[in-house]
Amino acid sequence: MPRSILATVHPDALRHNLQRARDCAPDARVWAVVKANAYGHGIERCFDAMRSADGFALLDLAEAERLRALDWRGPIHLLEGVFEPRDLELCSRLHLWHTVHCNEQIDWLAAHKTQVPHRVFLKLNSGMNRLGFTPAAFRSAWARLNVLPQVDEISLMTHFSDADGVRGIAHQVATFEAATADLPGERTLCNSAALLRHARTALRGAQNLAADWVREGIALYGSAPDFPARSAADWDLQPAMTLASRIIGVQSLQAGDTVGYGSAFAADKPMRIGVVACGYADGYPRHASTGTPVLVGGMRTRVVGRVSMDMITVDLTGLDAEGMGSEVVLWGRSSSGAVLPIDEVASAAGTISYELMCAVAQRVPFAAA
Ligand SMILES: *Cc1c(COP(=O)(O)O)cnc(C)c1O
Repeated sequence: MPRSILATVHPDALRHNLQRARDCAPDARVWAVVKANAYGHGIERCFDAMRSADGFALLDLAEAERLRALDWRGPIHLLEGVFEPRDLELCSRLHLWHTVHCNEQIDWLAAHKTQVPHRVFLKLNSGMNRLGFTPAAFRSAWARLNVLPQVDEISLMTHFSDADGVRGIAHQVATFEAATADLPGERTLCNSAALLRHARTALRGAQNLAADWVREGIALYGSAPDFPARSAADWDLQPAMTLASRIIGVQSLQAGDTVGYGSAFAADKPMRIGVVACGYADGYPRHASTGTPVLVGGMRTRVVGRVSMDMITVDLTGLDAEGMGSEVVLWGRSSSGAVLPIDEVASAAGTISYELMCAVAQRVPFAAA
């Protein structure tokens, strides 16, 4: 018998969440962001449910090749553009659209020999200060691209630093507007948080924020981009991944007994403890401390004591029907339909859902679709 840990991807949830994006921005085209192997879900496993997207956005060229191998002929956008000149050959061959965020990438394009002019997304650094041209340098970058025979259409792009937080996006939208006002081309601004939180309000304003293309990642996978302000249920999103396992041992404790490494948890009364086949070597966060929610037999209970490499311990007190072999959901949906949002687990571990999704370990098998 293999260990009982299993990850499952839910195609219906992906379809539902994609439709939610369309509801938020009915006039925009939606890129399904599938970087990091579809946020750990697996590009091939998600592809069928996501093929009604208008395009796929990612940054690893090998992942772009995998999408073409699935016979996806629509748009693929390399969000960080090319990393070295010879990547442009693959862009020509596979018809990849790519971000241009620095002068070196323009130099490489100018030297690139191709019959196929490329569609590029010129990126403005509107305040995040990671990738992109400053407002002062943006126009000359656009002018350089505009005269290159290697370039077909130039679209305009920026990325928000605070779409999920209190600072919001207004300052960056204003910067983008000012820097791009009279430039032609399609626009792409929104990630999940901007789409869910700001697209509707902005649609009523002068700027069509969700104009042309939106880049949806985390919401597609069923997590709220602005947890805990809003939950996935508040946004009507469904979990696209379940990580589940089983109880492989049970202990009865007396008051004063301790559990696990470092005796980090001490019982203050008689308790039943379940030992679950899941640990940090499976991608479960080691920083999930006592109190992190977990579902046993579809009912909510909590982790107690430290997470170890291959096991965690959970409180079974009061769950008398549960014991050896009981289903444990670390995040996602139980077989009874109860949902444990990944956002709650991430938050209890001091991280975000993105990191947990991407960190599911190689040794965890995924259920066949
Ligand atoms: C990852 C990424 C996105 C998607 O962000 P989410 O918060 O997951 O929706 C959008 N745009 C860029 C440039 C990205 O790198």
